[in-house]
Amino acid sequence: MGKVMIETTAKVQAFLGQSPVPFYSNGAWVTGGTSKSMAVENPADKSPLATIAEAVATDAEQAIEAAHTAFQSWQDTASAERAALLRKLADLCERDAEELSQLEALDVGKPVENARGFDVPFGIECLRYFADLCEKEEFETPLTLAGMKQAHKVRLPYGVVGFIFPWNFPLTLCQWGIAPALAAGNTVVIKPSEVTPLSTLYLAKLAEEAGFPAGVINVLPGEGPEVGTVFTHHPKVRFVSFTGSSRVGRLIGEACGANLKPVKLELGGKGASIICDDANVSAAAAGLAGAITLNTGQVCCTATRWIVHESVASEFIEKVKAELDKVLIKAGMNEDSQMGPLVSERQLNTVNGYIQQGQEQGAEVVYGGKNISDAERSGYYVSPTLLMGSEENICFREEIFGPVAYITTFKDDADALRQVNSLDYGLANSVWTGNNDRAIAIAKKMVSGNSWVNAHNVFAYGLPYGACSASGMGGGVNSRETMLDYTRNLSIAEPEEE
Ligand code: NAD
Repeated sequence: MGKVMIETTAKVQAFLGQSPVPFYSNGAWVTGGTSKSMAVENPADKSPLATIAEAVATDAEQAIEAAHTAFQSWQDTASAERAALLRKLADLCERDAEELSQLEALDVGKPVENARGFDVPFGIECLRYFADLCEKEEFETPLTLAGMKQAHKVRLPYGVVGFIFPWNFPLTLCQWGIAPALAAGNTVVIKPSEVTPLSTLYLAKLAEEAGFPAGVINVLPGEGPEVGTVFTHHPKVRFVSFTGSSRVGRLIGEACGANLKPVKLELGGKGASIICDDANVSAAAAGLAGAITLNTGQVCCTATRWIVHESVASEFIEKVKAELDKVLIKAGMNEDSQMGPLVSERQLNTVNGYIQQGQEQGAEVVYGGKNISDAERSGYYVSPTLLMGSEENICFREEIFGPVAYITTFKDDADALRQVNSLDYGLANSVWTGNNDRAIAIAKKMVSGNSWVNAHNVFAYGLPYGACSASGMGGGVNSRETMLDYTRNLSIAEPEEE
């Protein structure tokens, strides 16, 4: 028997039924100074999902003041205490894993099984990873230096950190961001995407239950320029961490530069995958079909340019088509869905626009290229799409953020590397080959933060996930260095008496 559409749990129903869903500031659930609200839509069928209270600039200012006040005592908490709270939050996320998974499926449109299998457990692991790390970290190191009676190297939290997040992995990206910042002793103000704010608000509920003091964690859903601008300009925000498009990242970077605020930028990508003549072509086809349909292709690091050795191109394309034929495209709340809708009408228009422009510029549609609309799929569905053509094509050069891959061929490794490195993006690439020396040689020459071998989209805590060039700056996430990025250096010294 086929698997069916699941029912929302009573807790999810109660959460969504609030009218509006309030936001969380200074330990209280509030509807904001202006009582404005925003509608959140279910992309699977365009039905209203919830109404949420909308934060405006004055709400952001109040939350920043609260976070600043909370920091005065939070900075002095023992790391064991911060770790205990992060672990308690992880335990509560585990208890409500089904609720969080359903909210991600409803709000983003992703398959609930993906949220259960990746987004939620990987976010829980993140909280525990940074809890362990902060307990182990020596934030204060005595130094023995000639001429010094005493000297200490101290790493201190910055204070209030402003986080701005995108809509594609709202829960996991939020945990990737705030766990290291909190572990290091900062307080946080969070602006989730106005498109998918629900799981972040639910996370705030769990943080309150876990016992984080008022003001340590604040969540302010609102429009980017309205709330985000306060983060980049307010003097009490000491660090800004932004995940989102390269276009907005540039604006954030400029504003932070002008205000001399340290900033971390995790931005867009146009990942490439090189499929060599000695690759396991079946494995590459399966892996890349999975990569392009994961989260309906709305993944910053996924492989969207497939650069295939000319001798295996036909075999690879036939195998990928066969893989894509098997993908079950359904609303994310279906247990067996493997790919859901795009997140919004706006995103559907963007993806359609690229497919059309790509064809106008001479690309051939090798697979898909159509929207899907029927009784069970009345939302923003597009089929996985393969395009083929020249490197000059807009679909080769720009981030589309949908289930669209662009195929080119290459003759030798130098040609493949030239194609990979011909764009300004530098987030993640992969190489498929049976020869490990060749894999490592290619991996080192692909200009990006992450080079994966015989796989795409590989994550682990302790493995830094960063970026370069137009894909970001500031050290990346998911490692000990990430926690230290949220600290500043202080040296204390006393010279020996003459
Ligand atoms: P976006 O840049 O449009 O928005 C991101 C966030 O910035 C949202 O919360 C938005 O409200 C806010 N924002 C928009 N304009 C702003 C402004 N002028 N000032 C301050 N804040 C503003 O991105 P998106 O469409 O939400 O997400 C998709 C993008 O995110 C893609 O480019 C994707 O590659 C990128 N992304 C990157 C990573 C990474 O780790 N590198 C992860 C996920 C997504």
